[in-house]
Amino acid sequence: MNTAFKSQVRAMAASMGFPEAVYVTRPNLPPLDDVMNTLKPAWDRRWITNDGELHIRLETELAKRLGVPYLNLFCNGTVALLTALKVLNLEEGAVITTPFTFPATVSVLYWCGLRPVYCDIQPDGYNLDPAGIEALIGPDTKAILPVHVYGIPCDVAAIKDIADRHGLPVIYDAAHAFGVRLRGESVLVHGDLSMLSFHATKVFTTAEGGALATGNPELHQRARVLKNFGITGEESVVAPGLNGKMNEMQAALGLAQLDGLDANTEKRRRLDGIYRRLLQHEPGLALLDMPRDVDPNYAYFPVRVQEALFGLNRDTLYETLKAFNIQCRKYLYPLCSSHPWCSAKTGTLPRAEAAADEVLCLPMYGQLPEAWAEKIGTIIKSLGSLARI
Ligand SMILES: *Cc1c(COP(=O)(O)O)cnc(C)c1O
Repeated sequence: MNTAFKSQVRAMAASMGFPEAVYVTRPNLPPLDDVMNTLKPAWDRRWITNDGELHIRLETELAKRLGVPYLNLFCNGTVALLTALKVLNLEEGAVITTPFTFPATVSVLYWCGLRPVYCDIQPDGYNLDPAGIEALIGPDTKAILPVHVYGIPCDVAAIKDIADRHGLPVIYDAAHAFGVRLRGESVLVHGDLSMLSFHATKVFTTAEGGALATGNPELHQRARVLKNFGITGEESVVAPGLNGKMNEMQAALGLAQLDGLDANTEKRRRLDGIYRRLLQHEPGLALLDMPRDVDPNYAYFPVRVQEALFGLNRDTLYETLKAFNIQCRKYLYPLCSSHPWCSAKTGTLPRAEAAADEVLCLPMYGQLPEAWAEKIGTIIKSLGSLARI
């Protein structure tokens, strides 16, 4: 950027910058007393993990709230996804997935002796493009692993159609999709299994945590056994499991948060509305379309920055916002296919590459004051105007 722009930014930041860091997200924490009161019975019983009462309650409550038949809680989403692959006995071979995701989606494949085959994303969205899947299916293809990126549901019907014709299981990485509904139904009912993450950066959090949802009681039961060392009885261990259990401290944090969840989604919805109002007509900024048949969770606010029209590219905007103490994130850059350890043998992935280079996620969390969202949107607009002079 030229020096005139830089000095104007400095002057603007001096008057409009935030005095403290504005993070891209902050965990939605209930009052600490609520967590303590929820935890107390488990504490008094000295039963703090292994199918504790809070764990059982949270599983039941979440299955009901999310609208899924079966749900297993886990210590985190990555171990839940790893377990899903093991539940389906997937080993050695290829799994068709998207490069536009968090590294864990792909890491777990390698931990199971599998490898990714990357399929590009949709022309008009950020999810794996069903139209690209079929050409990638080969004799060693074992499964399809799509991601509901930013909580927007994949084209689940098209993916199911392809999977059924080829006899392939589908596992959804639904880490972003807590509470999302598609045509009035939980997005988690699609595929053989869906993984959720309850990491501190997600809309529902147990600090670390995750879950596997399924409509299949046998898969559910296998996941239960595998997340607890393969143990089925005091003296019977039926499979090489691992330790994927959620403990009672995590479950207490989850339970104490449930009452406030709807209010939190409502706050996110209002922030989403503020950003949209300010930015939707800004040249060179493309916002994420919310499909009509989706009840979203407003987990992220991704903005696509087109340099030719906006005046700045994504990376310059990202760096410039830091001068205002606004900490955005380039989710999901870099692409998984760009890491040497998981690059696989990939052709070009032009749409995913463009998305990774152009998307910036703006601060989005329930406790973000609406005035801050107004200010962030206004600053972004002003930077565009300034850059286009
Ligand atoms: C957060 C996330 C994960 C990992 O979940 P953890 O609970 O942090 O292990 C996996 N995939 C995606 C898309 C994620 O965003």
